[in-house]
Amino acid sequence: MARLATQIKTLANNFLGLLYPEFCAACNQNLVNQEKVLCTKCLYELPRTYFHKVPGNPIEEIFWGRVLLERVTSFYFFQQGSKYRKLIHKLKYQNQPEIGIELGKHFAADLKTEAIFNEIDLIIPVPLHKKKLKMRGYNQSEMIAQGLAEILPAKLDTKSLIRKTFTQTQTKKNRYERWENIETVFEVKKPEIIEGKHILLVDDVLTTGATLEGCAQCLLKVKNVKVSIATLAFTSLQ
Ligand SMILES: [Zn+2]
Repeated sequence: MARLATQIKTLANNFLGLLYPEFCAACNQNLVNQEKVLCTKCLYELPRTYFHKVPGNPIEEIFWGRVLLERVTSFYFFQQGSKYRKLIHKLKYQNQPEIGIELGKHFAADLKTEAIFNEIDLIIPVPLHKKKLKMRGYNQSEMIAQGLAEILPAKLDTKSLIRKTFTQTQTKKNRYERWENIETVFEVKKPEIIEGKHILLVDDVLTTGATLEGCAQCLLKVKNVKVSIATLAFTSLQ
């Protein structure tokens, strides 16, 4: 009986697949069986950094002398002209939050192999501007964080770190003053919730690290907090 039910379910899924075929977000081939977002080939060929296995890796160096972090890693290299370049664009601008969730899960499976990432208490996404959230309907970093939290033993926390809305006087400041001000853009809501915790701060892409640095500095003001960073992609400025 159970076997029959499974067979019917598989048939139904295959039928639905014919009606609503899903495509690989990188190469546009039809997805088959259990594949989600990426086909098996694209998932296999994804240019992963494996920086989670390398303390003192090149992306940790970006933050040296700026903010004290435990570990920094990215899932894959964001390369010019690669078929994976569209992934972040689709996640941010084409209403495909499932890309963040699925890639977050694959990323977490890699992170899980290192002890330190199993010691994370809270996963906190970089908060989005209210206006952008309204336009986009979701925070892409939160989707990645959600995928990570499904696999890692840590808890997703979307309430503790918030982005303050700009006041008129702040937007009138010149660029240097605004740079100086970056950490005041973010605020910790209830410090007692994150006190003593190891936090994994999550964003979609790491470039200069300015926003992540601002968030980390804000979190580190709370007693005994440790911060690590994980982003889906890493792109160098060159
Ligand atoms: Zn593919």
